[in-house]
Amino acid sequence: MAHSPDTLDPVDWSAFRQQMHALVDACLDQLQDVRAHPWRPLDESARELVALGDAQMGVGLAATANELLTNILPHHSGNTHPRFFGWVQGTGTMAGLMAEVVAATMNSNCGGREHGAIHVEREVIRWCAACFGLPATTSGVLTTGTSQATVIALATARLQALGGDSRRQGIHGGPRLTMYAAEGVHNAIVKAAELIGIGSEALRCIPVDPASGSMDPERLAEAVRRDRGAGLLPFCVVGTAGSVDRGSFDRLDLLAELCAAEGLWFHVDGAFGAWARLAEAPWSDLVRGIDRADSLALDFHKWMFVQYDCGLILIRDEAKHRAAFAARPAYLAVQGAGLGGGDPWYCDYGTDLSRSFRALKVWATLRAYGSEQLGAAITRNCRLAALMAQLVEAAPELELVARVDANVCCFSVVGEGVEVVNAGVVARLQLSGCAVFSTTRIDGRTVMRAAIVNHRTSVEDVHFAIRGVVEAVRGSSGG
Ligand SMILES: *Cc1c(COP(=O)(O)O)cnc(C)c1O
Repeated sequence: MAHSPDTLDPVDWSAFRQQMHALVDACLDQLQDVRAHPWRPLDESARELVALGDAQMGVGLAATANELLTNILPHHSGNTHPRFFGWVQGTGTMAGLMAEVVAATMNSNCGGREHGAIHVEREVIRWCAACFGLPATTSGVLTTGTSQATVIALATARLQALGGDSRRQGIHGGPRLTMYAAEGVHNAIVKAAELIGIGSEALRCIPVDPASGSMDPERLAEAVRRDRGAGLLPFCVVGTAGSVDRGSFDRLDLLAELCAAEGLWFHVDGAFGAWARLAEAPWSDLVRGIDRADSLALDFHKWMFVQYDCGLILIRDEAKHRAAFAARPAYLAVQGAGLGGGDPWYCDYGTDLSRSFRALKVWATLRAYGSEQLGAAITRNCRLAALMAQLVEAAPELELVARVDANVCCFSVVGEGVEVVNAGVVARLQLSGCAVFSTTRIDGRTVMRAAIVNHRTSVEDVHFAIRGVVEAVRGSSGG
């Protein structure tokens, strides 16, 4: 399976073909037998296996294929496993796997120009805008994730608030912008506020209703009034669909109302929770009002189960979106015909010029399963979170610490000073291969948390995982 040092391509294609088939088979073996392949803590020897040294001399394709299979593939982080509930990590689909092979073969640069991949991305964006009830004129661009999508949204909102010259002159000397989000808003919003130059202090964190975890609209209106009174320029409200800690939903319809009345940009962080839109009622009702967003950021790599990385920003007003990012120096001029055509170019909608063919794994996932089956998987995840809550409440050692609205279940060991126990149980179950929970802080204490964005999880998996928690608690209290 030698390769030519001149072209870097194989000399013996039939040998390479065989090696590639074997590699695909090994990948499929791992996925077909997914329960036998939980996460693996990395030991020192595994780290040494990936050392590159100075990488002056290569080892060739055959040796590299072997290393990929023996040194890399086994050391996945486990989020393909049915009992992985940690953080908010998607599982990956088989349709996405097929798409990744094809996308790597095509190696398309999706910054713009006229070629097939661009039309796939347009179709994915068109479908998403329709899915969320946004107008057909909505623009968008696939991103690395919600973090990048948020920066694009807030930069667009900032330009809308400050006017065209702010792209050239920056924001100093202008009015002081302020924006608003619920307490506990994802750090991606904080980072975006820093990156667009208004600073994280300009992000006002509005108290939430303790039972629902939703931003209090009256406190929001008050904060906007106060800032206006102080001569500041409120410009944007961020509503969260699915908060990262307890999975709660802001009342998007009420926030949309307030934004319309106050002339504020309404951005929705729907990283995972936006997809409740595809679930059955009552879960689909959680995102009522999402169709009124000026911008919507979301991920495919969480609750649409698509391979990493893949997010999206949708912007209701295409002209505002383009105004914030478009620029065509001479080397990117649009041609009337040929590969240089195909306006609009995605580089005019975001920060990146060179971009991968992310859209294909979304397209293939939608094409293979359809929104109906994906929605059913999302509904199942909500039912499993409700089941988990029931099992927690039935266990004398455990208590729920927040209402379960959709797919996130936060719970704790009962009693005083159990924070260390909570964290210890989470670590123990991770190491034993039983289940992966993560921790978060609710009402100031460290608790256990499951965010179920896993199309492989079964009812038995949830029973097994909570039984594991109870046994671990008993084990730790028994000394
Ligand atoms: C995950 C998440 C983000 C950040 O998204 P990335 O895709 O990780 O960049 C933002 N907001 C919420 C609510 C999230 O769950």
